[in-house]
Amino acid sequence: MDPFADTLQRLREAFDSGCTRPAEFRAAQLKGLSRFLQENKQLLQEALAQDLHKSAFESEVSEISISQNEINSALRNLRAWMKDEKVPRNLATQLDSAFIRKEPFGLVLVIAPWNYPLNLSLEPLVGALAAGNCVVLKPSEVSKSTEKVLAEVLPRYLDQSCFAVVLGGPQETGQLLEHKFDYIFFTGSPRVGKIVMAAAAKHLTPVTLELGGKNPCYVDDNCDPQTVANRVAFFRYFNSGQTCVAPDYILCSPETQARLLPALQSAITRFYGEDPQSSPDLGRIISEKNFQRLRGLLSCGHVAIGGQTDESDRYIARPEHPLRCEQSSPSLPGRTAQRVMLLPSRLGPGTSAPTVLVGVQETEPVMQEEIFGPILPIMNVRSLDEAVEFIRHREKPLALYAFSNSSQVVKRVLAQTSSGGFCGNDGFMHMTVASLPFGGVGASGMGSYHGKFSFDTFSHHRACLLRRPGLEKVYALRYPPHTPRNLRVLLAAMETRSCSCALL
Ligand code: NAD
Repeated sequence: MDPFADTLQRLREAFDSGCTRPAEFRAAQLKGLSRFLQENKQLLQEALAQDLHKSAFESEVSEISISQNEINSALRNLRAWMKDEKVPRNLATQLDSAFIRKEPFGLVLVIAPWNYPLNLSLEPLVGALAAGNCVVLKPSEVSKSTEKVLAEVLPRYLDQSCFAVVLGGPQETGQLLEHKFDYIFFTGSPRVGKIVMAAAAKHLTPVTLELGGKNPCYVDDNCDPQTVANRVAFFRYFNSGQTCVAPDYILCSPETQARLLPALQSAITRFYGEDPQSSPDLGRIISEKNFQRLRGLLSCGHVAIGGQTDESDRYIARPEHPLRCEQSSPSLPGRTAQRVMLLPSRLGPGTSAPTVLVGVQETEPVMQEEIFGPILPIMNVRSLDEAVEFIRHREKPLALYAFSNSSQVVKRVLAQTSSGGFCGNDGFMHMTVASLPFGGVGASGMGSYHGKFSFDTFSHHRACLLRRPGLEKVYALRYPPHTPRNLRVLLAAMETRSCSCALL
């Protein structure tokens, strides 16, 4: 028995009816998403706190507001994005109309991870709905509380003939992927990305893969160590290091390392206090499995800062929040108001203090796998050239950071490397700029989204040319019997250059 067949058939029929195409329908869905965020803010914050011990600040900044901004931008620009895009023509098509039409793909699957379980579900969803698709959202089963809100509350704000949330872990998602979708948008690990791409290939379904990896952070000798330490520590330990674009490791000289270590210690103490474990602003590791994996990484190199772990740290997850919260659901026309209840989920299994490792070897696990936790190794290099060489010899990362008082140094790192995104002298601020595409390259992924890039990602760019029925005498130049003169005229007419005269 296929648990997804009925849902998928319902969504396909809705798409085929054409109901998702008008701008008004798309705008109504986006407004529904906006109301979902506004009316369930507290419920969402509770869920995020239960899943990851996210502080209200982190939830607001990195989950709720960022999703709201994406919705607002789509609502503001929807009609402009939907417009046919006129393109320049060659001489042979001067009298015609040539344009790109942005068409919805059809039935789209969005698969989300657990680390920003709300934002990484909603941001792709905004693009998919704005582009006029029907959408199946598969949130992460690991971030259980947020998954529950997305499954039980979100559908009430959207047209359920066109949108569905389906639940499941690897096995169920594998079953879901056997179905034919018209587009798959996956955010997660490179390992599962390969599984998704292989499943998509069976149906020739196009994919966007938003993956992870190790993001290098080069720190030049010419820098202010405290400024660098503040910025690197903030972005490394945000969400307890469980961020795909977090600086994964530092590359710097031994001299800069010596200046950075006290500055990093100072930043960590200012941010999280003398006892980071009791800080309300430090998140928790999502699962027992990841906690054990991270604890294993602490044996690489030497611990210079932090290094403490507490596997049994369950009470600390949300001391300032009640474990049970209730919230009225929105009252929608024709629906009976229901109550959504978040029961205490299994709390994060442990804490790991913000940690800095030194003396690590590139062959050690901490330099071989994506860390995805509050651990920051420092690798020593003797020069900028050696740092660039180190970066170039590895998979292309999702993000790359360079810190220097010299703009020449930052520009050299930018020019001599490749990565999904780049930020000079800060952490992952580049991904907050909606006019920049967000996505990986090589092993860190393919495709991009955010703002208009999301709309374009979820739209088929249909090449259209509308010709006139007449002028057959002119067009007859193309037909046999061919002559050298006709060939010359045709080749000239098909050359790509802007020309306002109309010979053909
Ligand atoms: P994951 O790959 O384990 O899971 C992602 C999704 O895939 C989940 O919904 C999960 O249910 C599903 N899944 C897991 N195993 C599957 C299988 N065998 N078959 C089909 N589906 C399966 O990733 P995660 O642990 O949730 O997230 C962490 C990873 O995601 C990190 O590598 C991180 O860098 C990456 N990530 C990337 C971005 C980005 O924007 N590029 C953002 C967040 C996280």
